[in-house]
This record gives sequence, C-alpha cells and structure tokens, in this order.
Amino acid sequence: MSANDACVIVGASLAGAKAAQALREEGFDGPLVLIGDESERPYERPPLSKGYLMGKDAREQIYVHPPQWYAEHNVDLRLGMAVTAVDPAAREVTLADGKRVGYGKLLLATGSSPRRLPVPGADLKRVLYLRRVEDSDQIKEAFQFASRAVVIGAGWIGLETTAAARAAGVEVTVLEMAELPLLRVLGREVAQVFADLHRDHGVDLRFGAQLAEITGSAGAADGVRLSDGTRIDADVVIVGVGITPNIGLAQEAGLEVDNGIRVDERLSTSYPDIYAAGDVANAFHPLLGKHIRVEHWANALHQPQTAAQAMLGQQDAVYDRVPYFFTDQYDLGMEYAGYVEPGGYDQVVFRGDVAGREFIAFWLADNRVLAGMNVNTWDVNDELQALVRTAHPVDAHMLTDPQVPLESLLASAQHR
Ligand SMILES: Cc1cc2nc3c(=O)[nH]c(=O)nc-3n(C[C@H](O)[C@H](O)[C@H](O)COP(=O)(O)OP(=O)(O)OC[C@H]3O[C@@H](n4cnc5c(N)ncnc54)[C@H](O)[C@@H]3O)c2cc1C
Repeated sequence: MSANDACVIVGASLAGAKAAQALREEGFDGPLVLIGDESERPYERPPLSKGYLMGKDAREQIYVHPPQWYAEHNVDLRLGMAVTAVDPAAREVTLADGKRVGYGKLLLATGSSPRRLPVPGADLKRVLYLRRVEDSDQIKEAFQFASRAVVIGAGWIGLETTAAARAAGVEVTVLEMAELPLLRVLGREVAQVFADLHRDHGVDLRFGAQLAEITGSAGAADGVRLSDGTRIDADVVIVGVGITPNIGLAQEAGLEVDNGIRVDERLSTSYPDIYAAGDVANAFHPLLGKHIRVEHWANALHQPQTAAQAMLGQQDAVYDRVPYFFTDQYDLGMEYAGYVEPGGYDQVVFRGDVAGREFIAFWLADNRVLAGMNVNTWDVNDELQALVRTAHPVDAHMLTDPQVPLESLLASAQHR
C-alpha cells in the first residue's frame, strides 16, 4: 500500500484519537498515522480541572483508549513529535525530526492553547496555566503548599479551578474584567447563578478588575497589583483567560483560516483531502446557518466521526449536532445545549428552583429556544437539544411550568 492511501492525523488528543477510532470503525484498513507533540497518549481534558485535579479520579481514567488499543488497531501512534509543516502539493507533512510522512487524506486536530497574559510578571514561577495533564499536576501540587490563590479570569477553567482550590482549602480571589462570570456566554441572568455559587463557597470575586502586573519575589509570583493600585497577595496565580486555536500549520500551508481552520459542514478545509475537527475547526453548522468554532468536549468527541466518514468519501457525512457542554463546580452539575451569540437572545425563562440551584434555563428569541441549560436536573438534555433543533416557537409560560412535560412542548412545536 502506498503513502497515498494513508490517513494521517495531526494532534493526538480527543479529536485525533476519536478520528483514528472512527476511521477503523468505518472500515478503513490502510496505513493510519496519529501524530502528537505531547508525550502522553491521547487523554481527555475535562477531568484536569475537576476530578483529576481534586485527586478523585486516577490518572488511568483520563485516557481516551487503553495503551494497547493503538497497536491492536494498527494505528501508528507517534508521540512527542510535532508536525512542523504541511505541504498540500506534495501531500506530505514534515515532522520536527525532519522526517516526512505522506498522506492520501489528512486531518488537522491541533486543538487550542491557552491565551497568555500580556502583563509584567507573567513569566514568573508559580504563574500557572491549565491545558495539559502536567499543568493539572502542577496546580494540584501548588494546592498542597498554597494558602491563597489568585485566579485570573472567571470563565469555565477559572471557575472550575477555583472550585477545586476551595475543596483543597485554599482561599481564592477571582479577578474578572467583566461585571459577572461567564457573562458573554451565559448572559446576566444565569451568570448571576455562578457568581452566587462561588460567593456562597467563600470566594472573593472581583469584577471590573484590571490587572496591572503579577508581582514576585525570588523569581516566583507573590501576588498581583491592579491598575487602581489594589494589591492582592497570593502563593500561586492561575490564569484562565481563554484559548486560541492552533492554526499555525494550516495558515502556513495556505489553508483558509478565520477564527480557526475554516471548514464546511463535512469538515473539509479549503484544500482537497485536508480536513479539520475539534477545537481548531471553525465549521459551517447547517442548523445555525453559519460557521461556529466550538471549544468543548462533545464537539471534539463527535466531529471526528463525520470527518472520518468524509475522508472515506461518504457523501452524506454532515456535522449538525446541537452544540453541548457541561461543567461541575462544587455540588453544581450542569449541561448546556444550543448556541447563543453574546446578547443574541431576548429573554431567559426558568423552570424549577433557581435559588436552590435545581432548574432548567431557556434562552429565547422570538419564543424560539436557542439554548437550554439543566442545572442539577438530569435526563432532560435530549429534550433540550430537540427543542433547539426544532427552532419552532413555543409558549414561554409552558416552558416555565414544571407540570408541563418537555416532550409535550416538543410535540406542540413540531405541529405548528
Ligand atoms: C482543563 C480543561 C477542562 C475542560 N473541561 C471541559 C468541560 O467540562 N466540558 C467541556 O465541554 N469541555 C471542556 N474542556 C474543553 C475540551 O477539553 C476541549 O474542547 C477538547 O480537549 C478539544 O479537543 P481537541 O482534540 O480538539 O484539541 P486539544 O485537546 O487541544 O488537542 C490538540 C492536540 O494537538 C496537539 N498539537 C497541536 N499542534 C500540533 C502539531 N503541530 N504537531 C503535533 N501535535 C500538535 C496538542 O498539543 C494537543 O495534544 C476542557 C478543557 C480543559 C483544558
């Protein structure tokens, strides 16, 4: 079999490993190479800010496949090896050691990297980011000696890490530029729930905070200074200020990039036989009628199936799942289905007990459900996804009434 029959996957994390699995499940029996620059075999990241960080999940639980899976499925897994270039004309990728690997079909699953802070002191020791398993190990270790932490950024990573820090008995101050945590993603109504949650767990939340510098002594962070002069002492500073897609390879190869690698609903890039999936893909979503880049686990789990099918020439392969994500913080677990642009809704209605943190929230525009979030309420997310998918108007009062089964709303929406 020649290299032109090979499927090559760049990025050996969730999307890359799932793509290898899907290619084999879809019947591809040619050469399959999975290349990743991390030294660990593919693992999942959600536990790194939750169970694994808190010491509840064992390391073995984070991996996508058992170690022998790759050999058993004839997957040539090359770890600790960066791909440095893609040459679409020659149909090959170049590795950091100078070797070249030819491909018939190429999948880019290069994911994303934490955005770095552009302030003085950001390079000090004990300024920690969270993306890789070794980052989680370092933060876990810091929780052993730290009595005070400053967390910069009240997004998902910042808040989950804060919850883990509190569980370890660390005092936490969270600094956020916006007025509330998660304001852009959730809007004011539900963002408030997360602010209350953390305050109730003793977190010092500071909104509208402008970081001026991270201060240090003996080369290690010892606190932060805000632009209004406020000084906050800390034994460790944890930064969670968002991520940027790893588009370098694609960009240098001349692929179309725009907030990620731009792909169609089949996850094909602007170049023949090159595909992208997971955090790095800005994919056309048929349900929403536009391109979106989803930085969440479920997307990296499911997109590879479509990518694999498209790589194998299946004409009906289209990715149109309703975006989904989840979080766990303290005793709050939630799932979210749908997609709302910042400020892109006209009301949020609730079903259940918001103060008791056991409810469903619905984001509506013109009485259509754009998104739903179930908080400490289970086995309803399929209905929420179906409500989003139908995109038909529903009666907001019925959404709020716990006596009205969600299935019945679905049926009435479908029959309009
Ligand atoms: C701490 C943490 C907690 C999270 N929790 C949740 C959660 O609760 N819920 C949720 O929905 N989502 C969560 N996420 C998001 C979710 O983990 C990501 O969406 C998912 O990891 C994306 O997978 P991916 O395979 O597309 O990319 P990544 O996981 O970023 O993997 C890409 C891989 O490619 C490698 N790579 C990049 N460039 C190259 C190159 N040139 N050569 C070789 N290899 C390369 C990278 O090093 C990396 O190993 C969390 C993320 C983090 C970091």
